Amino acid sequence: MSRFAGRTRVTASGRRNIRRPLAASSSVTHLDPATAESDDRMLDVVVIGAGQAGLSAAHHLLRSGLRAWDDVVVLDANEGPGGAWRHRWDSLTLGDVHGIHDLPGLPLGTPDPAEPASRVVARYYGAYESTFDLPVLRPVAVASVEQRFEEHDGFVVTARDGRSWRTRAVVNATGTWDSPWVPHYPGIETFRGRQLHTHDFTAATDFRGRRVLVVGGGTSAAQFVLDLDRAGVETVWTARTAPRWTSRSFDQEWGRAVEASVSARTTRGLSPHSVVAATGLPLTGMYARAIRSGLLVSRGPLLRLTPAGAVLAGPGPDGRGVPAQGEADRLLDDAAHARVRVLPGHAAENGDADAWEVPVDVVLWATGFRASLGHLSRLHLREPGGGIMMGTDAVTVAKQPGLFLVGYGASASTLGATRAGRRAAQAAVRYANAAKTETEDSVEPASA
Ligand code: FAD
Repeated sequence: MSRFAGRTRVTASGRRNIRRPLAASSSVTHLDPATAESDDRMLDVVVIGAGQAGLSAAHHLLRSGLRAWDDVVVLDANEGPGGAWRHRWDSLTLGDVHGIHDLPGLPLGTPDPAEPASRVVARYYGAYESTFDLPVLRPVAVASVEQRFEEHDGFVVTARDGRSWRTRAVVNATGTWDSPWVPHYPGIETFRGRQLHTHDFTAATDFRGRRVLVVGGGTSAAQFVLDLDRAGVETVWTARTAPRWTSRSFDQEWGRAVEASVSARTTRGLSPHSVVAATGLPLTGMYARAIRSGLLVSRGPLLRLTPAGAVLAGPGPDGRGVPAQGEADRLLDDAAHARVRVLPGHAAENGDADAWEVPVDVVLWATGFRASLGHLSRLHLREPGGGIMMGTDAVTVAKQPGLFLVGYGASASTLGATRAGRRAAQAAVRYANAAKTETEDSVEPASA
């Protein structure tokens, strides 16, 4: 129980406040992992999530002088290190991904590009946690974060198993992996085949002998088309608009421009676009070859699902005409056009003039993720625009002092998350110190 529970205090600003006691049902315990003893310490910072963003934040918190376990804990829902990466499918090798940015103080090095990224990153994060003795407690799935009393009394972070922690500041780094997003299309409920999201994809070989509709215009969708093809699985790729291929290299200047464009939304409380939506699809040699081979060609936007297939808008199943492919159009000369796969299909019944139906057995929704922030719902942070109003530093929550979001919006890449972790740690330390000073100033002297 808080040592201030039920007392009267005068704040540094001279206000006189009555501290309400915590409800009995929300008694606060902090389990020390070493001793398993409970206590009611007020931590300076709780970091939620131990992916790239949370580890970067934790590192900078300790570098600022905060003590592991005494001042800072990191709560992570996973069974082991790796953040979202530990859940990614085996055929996603390190060589396939855009790149993992180094965490501060321990370079990733040059692992074998043929090794699954899930293993490389889990190993790297595990080494990082032990090298810097980061106070990571897992598995701890945070169910809620609540603010108690007035601003400087901090937060109570409660796990699904009932444990809870009191803290002055919270750095939230919970990523997106636990919030897969599937858009609604007519017929989605009546489709009789299998539907799955990127989140649940494990191996292309699971789909042998079946035709898979790959939905989405991002890197995951493009990778799935190639991966499934290597396993001998026939695919139909559908993207809402022409694929956003770009030959531009991802240099620092462009990276900053992309971050600025995402931040421009979050500072207005709008939901963030994914970083990939802002960056486009890098037209690497691997993708260019797959486009020229007629494989990696979007067949038009999905209009609806039927019990046994998908209705697409566009030129049709025979591949003679394909919809616009953005910057990849220049790769699709006559020879490439001739290689575009002929699919079974027919003009859509009771449909639009340009619509055609292709039979498919599986729909793979590579349609992205949303920020995993359900545990923050009691703080009522959502703006009418669907997002959370962020400060210009892209980590401060404008309307909730003491809460910092990393890996959200502009920082949803390993590079952005690493940088944001630093900014959030610095801001959280400043906030916790100010709260401490306020608390010390406000405790009534014994003689008063
Ligand atoms: P995560 O890695 O998702 O870590 C969040 C952690 O929080 C997890 O350990 C999770 O268990 C934990 N958590 C979640 N909810 C709770 C809770 N309620 N309580 C406690 N713990 C919780 N970015 C790149 O820079 N390069 C790439 O090549 C790249 N490839 C990608 C490929 C795919 C398929 C996807 C989906 C994304 C890719 N990204 C890539 C984006 C990448 O995932 C992020 O950049 C970065 O890894 C996210 O780090 P994070 O720390 O924000 O989140």
